[in-house]
Amino acid sequence: MSTQKAEMIDVHEWEAEESNEDRKTKRDLMVTKVERSAEKNEGNKVYVRGMLKKGATDTKKHKCAGAYVWYSVKQDPQTNDKMYDHEERSEWEDRAPNWQKIMTTAIGDSGTVERRKMKKLIGDDLKTLHPSIVKACEEDLEAFETEEVAKSTNKRPKMRIKSYTIGLCEVQLGDDEAYNDHMKNLHGVTTQVSSKKLKSNIYPDLDTISGGGGVEKVLTELGPTLKVISHTNGKHVPISKLQAQPGKRKWRWVLKT
Ligand SMILES: [Zn+2]
Repeated sequence: MSTQKAEMIDVHEWEAEESNEDRKTKRDLMVTKVERSAEKNEGNKVYVRGMLKKGATDTKKHKCAGAYVWYSVKQDPQTNDKMYDHEERSEWEDRAPNWQKIMTTAIGDSGTVERRKMKKLIGDDLKTLHPSIVKACEEDLEAFETEEVAKSTNKRPKMRIKSYTIGLCEVQLGDDEAYNDHMKNLHGVTTQVSSKKLKSNIYPDLDTISGGGGVEKVLTELGPTLKVISHTNGKHVPISKLQAQPGKRKWRWVLKT
């Protein structure tokens, strides 16, 4: 099992910044990162600004359980050689691998990419990368290095992966079509969610509950939601808004058992 840990970043963190200027700077940086990821995964970067809009993580029918992965590179051995002073370093930071096929394996019975299955790829801690993701990064670097070497007339040290970064996608989508579009355009993953197929809209995992432990399971599932609410940095989310969600009926049933 891989022990490659990624540093976790908050894709939607810009929203919590106090000043307009900081918000804009942070958001622009994130747009660049997510655009790279979307492009590498055969998505469409035109959709990136929309998914980083204010309110994109507000509670809606579908919560994306996908993630973004980046890696940064260094030269090994490190060198202080002057010839590298003029290199284009920005291309070495936050490179995105293509892992659309890997994320596709996290599609569950609900037809959506499920957090439970994503944990097999990014660990229970949501930052331990599966060997297949590490391999995707290494393959991407290999192709990049081949290009770089071809451009350079000088002999140069090998490139190695310096670090990995992961960002959970917390975008929420209002209907099935919007969900499928998001998965395709941002993650390059083809989902075919339709309301008939979907058992529980917000908490698909709850369908597996039989008998005891139900309430505990609900609280476990609710945890991330509460975190998201607290994360909105003082923005008040009225309880009526939460109760108005399609998952409501399921909840009552669960609490009674
Ligand atoms: Zn997403």
